Parts: sequence; structure tokens; C-alpha cells
Amino acid sequence: MKCFICSKEISEGRFCDEHSKQLYTMLKDDSNIVQSPDGRHHCHICGRFEDREIVEHPFGYFCDKDIIPEYRRYLEKKGPLYRLIDTELSSVEFVRDYIQFRFDGPCLATYLLPEISIGPRVILWNEQGYRDSLCEQIGQRVYSIRCDNTLEIEFENKVILTLDLNPQDFEGAEVGMFTDDNLMVVFQC
Ligand SMILES: [Zn+2]
Ligand SMILES: [Zn+2]
Repeated sequence: MKCFICSKEISEGRFCDEHSKQLYTMLKDDSNIVQSPDGRHHCHICGRFEDREIVEHPFGYFCDKDIIPEYRRYLEKKGPLYRLIDTELSSVEFVRDYIQFRFDGPCLATYLLPEISIGPRVILWNEQGYRDSLCEQIGQRVYSIRCDNTLEIEFENKVILTLDLNPQDFEGAEVGMFTDDNLMVVFQC
């Protein structure tokens, strides 16, 4: 198989990693989206334009239904949490001393409570408005994920949840758990 755009050899899918990433970034930037697409703007992959978000790429038109699975495939090579990209936060459950974030199917439990960044403002778990701010994210889609020493989940409204995966004085403890279908990932520091 070859990338539809650059013809680079790929083992599966439609686009290479680079173009999966590029098309997703373009999809999330309104300036590349065709307003009221018609037959001239049909997707080069699936041929459709109705009920689709169509990206205008220098190489042609591509739809959200083709771009998003390709981007997820690219991200899943980096780790299972990246599958949360473009999923919607469906519920936030406060359970004794931890929180469960559900994204319809997938679920992220955090035993340390994440910080919430709303623009320049950071809200910690013991501050007023913490719970409300988390619940206000219900219905928001995940825009991006960063995961190394901290886990950052950025939503489309630019609100970021940050979880320290290597907190001091917490050695060996579990800080979070991610489950989806048969998959379970434990974050332990
Ligand atoms: Zn390519
Ligand atoms: Zn398509």
C-alpha cells in the first residue's frame, strides 16, 4: 500500500504518518474546511461530501471520516491513550478518592487528581470550582494528548487536564489506570 498523497510505502491504511498528522491538523483548523461542500468537493478516498467535513489539501479533498481513523492509527503506535483523540468526554465520576473519566467506551481513572488549566488559570483539586470545571468538560472532544512524565489531555475548547505521572513521595504507587475493551494500562511511578 502507498500513501494516497506522497506514495510512500505503508503497511496499512491510506496515509503515511506524516500526512495523517497533517490532515488531522488541517481538519481542526477551520480555515482549511470547505464551507457547504458540494459534488466538486467530494472526498478523494470515499467519494462523499454529504454530512462530512471536507478538508481542502493541496493534493485534493479529504473527509473527516477518512482522516480521523488514519490519525488514530498513527497515534496508537505511540501508546494506547492516544486512542482518546477526538472522543468525547461522556462523564466524570467522583469516586471516594479518585476520579473516573469516561469517553463513551474508554475509561481513565486517576488516583491523583489532575490540574485543570483554563487559559492562564490553573485550578487544583483543593480549590473552589474544581469539580464544576471538570464537569463542564463533559461533551468536549479531546484535541490532543501528550504523555511522558506528565499526561496532558487537551480538549477542543483549549482546557487542559494535567496529571503528574511521576510525583515525588509517591514511589511505586499507581497514579492512574486506562481501560478500553480488553485493554488495561496501569500508570505506576
Ligand atoms: Zn504521505
Ligand atoms: Zn472520505
